[in-house]
Amino acid sequence: VEVISYGYTGKILHVDLTTGKTSVDQHDEVWYRTYMGGGCMSAWYLLNNMPAGIDPLGPENMLIFSIAPIVGAPVPTISRTIISAKSPLTNAFGETQMGGFFGPELKFAGWDAVIITGKAENPVYLWIQDDKVELRDARAIWGKDTLESQTAILDELGDKRIRVANIGPAGEKLVRFAAVLHNMKHACGRTGMGAVMGSKNLKAVAVRGSNKYESYDPDTLRDRASWFNKNYMSNVANKELNVYGTAGIVNGMNERGMLPTRNFRKGFFEDAEKVSGETMTETLLTKGEGCYVCPVRCKRVVETNDQWRVNPVFGGPEYETIGALGTNCEVSDLAAVSKGNEICNRLGLDTISTGMAISFAMECYENNLLSKDELSGLDDLNWGNSVSMVKLTEMIGNRQGLGDLLAEGTKRAAAKIGKGAEKFALEVKGQEIPLHEPRVKGMLGITYAVSELGAEHTRVEHDADFDEFAPQIFVDQAKVLGLLERLPCETIDEPKIRMYYYLQHHFSMLDSLGCCLFGFAPVRAYTMTDLVTIVNAATGWESSLWELMKLGERRWNMTRLFNIREGFNVSDDRLPDRYFTGLENGAMADRPIDRTEFNDALRLYYDMANWDPDTAVPRRAKLVELDLMWAADKLPDWLEQGKKLRADGNIER
Ligand code: SF4
Repeated sequence: VEVISYGYTGKILHVDLTTGKTSVDQHDEVWYRTYMGGGCMSAWYLLNNMPAGIDPLGPENMLIFSIAPIVGAPVPTISRTIISAKSPLTNAFGETQMGGFFGPELKFAGWDAVIITGKAENPVYLWIQDDKVELRDARAIWGKDTLESQTAILDELGDKRIRVANIGPAGEKLVRFAAVLHNMKHACGRTGMGAVMGSKNLKAVAVRGSNKYESYDPDTLRDRASWFNKNYMSNVANKELNVYGTAGIVNGMNERGMLPTRNFRKGFFEDAEKVSGETMTETLLTKGEGCYVCPVRCKRVVETNDQWRVNPVFGGPEYETIGALGTNCEVSDLAAVSKGNEICNRLGLDTISTGMAISFAMECYENNLLSKDELSGLDDLNWGNSVSMVKLTEMIGNRQGLGDLLAEGTKRAAAKIGKGAEKFALEVKGQEIPLHEPRVKGMLGITYAVSELGAEHTRVEHDADFDEFAPQIFVDQAKVLGLLERLPCETIDEPKIRMYYYLQHHFSMLDSLGCCLFGFAPVRAYTMTDLVTIVNAATGWESSLWELMKLGERRWNMTRLFNIREGFNVSDDRLPDRYFTGLENGAMADRPIDRTEFNDALRLYYDMANWDPDTAVPRRAKLVELDLMWAADKLPDWLEQGKKLRADGNIER
């Protein structure tokens, strides 16, 4: 195999935890370019090398840490590590990303990806020091939280500059939405990758590299980095992130009636100001922190000396966490929300699914589906009870009492509770809805339904960035994609589906390339041309926005094929019934999604994507066009499945 010279290292590490054996995969340049970036490479491996229908918590599941060719370049907002596997939460394609420093370090150690299969007999951690790969005994740190175990690993290896990705007790106990943490605050939260690590008896991956990042054109990379460092504060979105973090959107969302409140029954929370980014900055914030070479420093670090005694080592709450543990549970105590965030990062939990599981339980309690006797010692589960919220977060992470039930995710918990609890479980394909309102953000609702991960908010730029209130720069920067007009926020009509189709591929591409969504056009400082320039300077290729958009589309289709293979069908592209009724308050009250319009929008989208509109299966021609013929060869069976589904009339949402 011809060695890849720039951007990539040309080596992919395989570790079989059952046998303790390691091996190295190499691919040619065509493969690397066709499946450019961590997201695409992982999708290729999961489709190609993993059998269908495996148990996501069994040894056959492939857990993949992957990075893109531009990760490791000394350029801001390009540092993301992707972790992929079959998800134990959804049984579908699983993927999650984190910023921080782990991805660049993996590149410096000489690896493009690490693929972990099997199950260790006893707990271990994986230690990668350049070419030296070692499985080390982790029995002494099994059961320890993320801080204790990271500290022990760094002490044992004697180098504080080692980067660690680890799980806490939640991953060990197979909480289905357990997270992988890096440095206690960069979370790979979604789809339960922490539980996959736990199922393999893998406590952590520690990495240290001594190689330099090799690029084709370092001067151009330096030039773009220097431009970003000088100019990012002129971009309104990046400035807000720097000053208030992601929580800077709380008050605006509330005013517009789209702040999830009381398990998405309301869009306006009376006490939103108390949990806003502005309040955090004025009260609990000690500093902002960032990822590898990023000046935006949007990460919050908070500390309190009150009853909650929040430890700053675990960072501070993002917007999603404030929505999930705060507004959606009607908890207005920012210190309590920060404590919940600390517990999630300490035990290794996804804050979104954790908070959504708690608001689900609160609604079950309100409707007498959970009695006081079933609360495992909590005083009550009334809306706004911050003490119960914090205690229940801890109980979920440790799988204690009611927490054990909720650790299964809201879909499974609702099925167990019965009595109609399903209507309070806000999930798609089993993954809990993020804290963005699909009745107000129209194309976001479409992506919740269609996404390979189940409900996920990072699959498309949000509608509000292109409506009548959006800054002109956002609208202007989308024009390079052929999106020339502002569109109303809540619509899902033909122009909006076209916008969705383009922006979704764009986000899929950014994700695969390890780009932080807070760095790039259309909303943030780098233009789309900058991205192409960076990819070309890193790799030496003459790529284009066209090729990169096709990369995003290729990845999107590969993950769809993975889910079809795992038995998902068009009826899984749905939204919970709640969103087809109106919000109870706020500026967007009483404006439900129209079910007929929603189904029509999905059909139009499938047609646009060249997927069969009845079955949502990619047509063979689309797979040929995306150079996925190897998958097309397997397609006839899937097409038959799709036809059968149609004949059975078994399509409902
Ligand atoms: S913008 Fe924030 S999340 Fe993105 S790379 Fe910079 S510090 Fe990290």
